[in-house]
Amino acid sequence: MTKSIRLNLENKQATNLSENLLEVKNLKTYYPIKGGFFRRTIGVVKAVDDVSFEIKRGETLGLVGESGCGKSTTGRTILRLLEPTSGQILFDGKDITYLRGRELREARRDFQMVFQDPYASLNPMQMVGDIVSEPIQNYTKKSRKQIMDEVMDLLERVGLPEDAYYKYAHEFSGGQRQRIGIARALALRPKLIVADEPVSALDVSVQSQVLNLLKELQQDFDLTYLFIAHDLSVVKHMSDRIGVMYLGNLVEIADKKSIYQEPLHPYTQALISAIPEPDPRKKKERIVLQGDVPSPVNPPSGCPFHTRCPVAKEECSIQKPSLKEVKPGHKVACLLY
Ligand code: SF4
Repeated sequence: MTKSIRLNLENKQATNLSENLLEVKNLKTYYPIKGGFFRRTIGVVKAVDDVSFEIKRGETLGLVGESGCGKSTTGRTILRLLEPTSGQILFDGKDITYLRGRELREARRDFQMVFQDPYASLNPMQMVGDIVSEPIQNYTKKSRKQIMDEVMDLLERVGLPEDAYYKYAHEFSGGQRQRIGIARALALRPKLIVADEPVSALDVSVQSQVLNLLKELQQDFDLTYLFIAHDLSVVKHMSDRIGVMYLGNLVEIADKKSIYQEPLHPYTQALISAIPEPDPRKKKERIVLQGDVPSPVNPPSGCPFHTRCPVAKEECSIQKPSLKEVKPGHKVACLLY
């Protein structure tokens, strides 16, 4: 257990808060497909299909899976940037699933997002000081001087020079732009940050700097992270627990050690087997999956992984396995268990 989680659990006991900051129950996010002359709904994309998990205060939950598996859609639905089709999102004990208007705006102070592409997510017409000030101006009645002091502090805290305040995003490198995005996400002192592939657009040389910064900030600002990435070594570095998604479904979730050392789901086993072994003396057998990920418009019957599963049985194409706890804290959706 990291120092941050321990401190948070102690705080929780002191104030009698729930251990979980976020609880997601049976979340579904479907997109309609329109077609024909009258633009009728002719099908649905099941981007997130009945996903449930929770994140403890001060913890980092990593969400992994191939592109298109629904991990980003899950993150965006939790932040209410996308409308859930059904299910429940409980944030800090409050049901935010269908909040609207002023209530949603107020709730949003406490959860923010760090985006994948620091180039696209920053307004090129605004000075960095204005970009980071904007949320504080929108949500508080602080004076210009107070806001400027806070923003200067934030820029320093994320490792940007003082004169960054008066510059524009295009004057910075990719890593520095991501630091600007992080400062903006921190401006309102949120409780939860959803980081959606925050380093995948950056050079490998700066990735670890940004990851280490996120870790330091987690301690300093008492943050809880949902960390979304396809790179398993990045997720391993950042996460306390890891959830694995396939075709809109959460197929396994457990603490980091269990996922990397004893993966149970055949899909997780294949993902882990593909991580290069740094020690050339150690032999590692790679599980190569056959075929492509099926379309979420027309997912397979039964287990969503059965068309590619190397150990599928006959009933796997008929019966859909539910996510079950098979060891303490280790849940898997597979008929083998
Ligand atoms: Fe493979 Fe069957 Fe388990 Fe699905 S339920 S992962 S097809 S063994």
